[in-house]
Amino acid sequence: MTSSAQQPDHTRRRLRDAGLRATSARVAVMELLAKIGTPETHQEISDQLQSLSFDKSTIFRALNDLAAGGLARRMELGDHVWRYELASSAEDGEHPDQSHPHLLCVVCGSITCLTDDDIEIKVSKTIGPIEDVLLKGHCVSCVGVE
Ligand SMILES: [Zn+2]
Ligand SMILES: [Zn+2]
Repeated sequence: MTSSAQQPDHTRRRLRDAGLRATSARVAVMELLAKIGTPETHQEISDQLQSLSFDKSTIFRALNDLAAGGLARRMELGDHVWRYELASSAEDGEHPDQSHPHLLCVVCGSITCLTDDDIEIKVSKTIGPIEDVLLKGHCVSCVGVE
């Protein structure tokens, strides 16, 4: 039996629904992003997929294809590095393409995905659409650490 965290059929279906061919690199990248659950850099993703012998440019193309197809979101969280995370699907009970705020921990540098329960953002009509909301603070493991 394979790991329960991996759902290759579900992943392939999402790729096809987005009009993308389910190449092994795209499937591997999507499953890794699903497993991690928080935004990761191209470097971190490549490192973790090295054992599957994909080269970095293949991973990079797969990431950009996923972003273009709306399956992944690409974001820059203040350190000039692009990070990627899986976009939520309607099947997850969330609005597809709905972005959410992120917390960058000033102590350990980790990124935490925030939900409406964590923080509510109200956007005034006097500004244009918001792309990313980044908060800096302390993650749960670093609360109280200086
Ligand atoms: Zn932290
Ligand atoms: Zn997130």
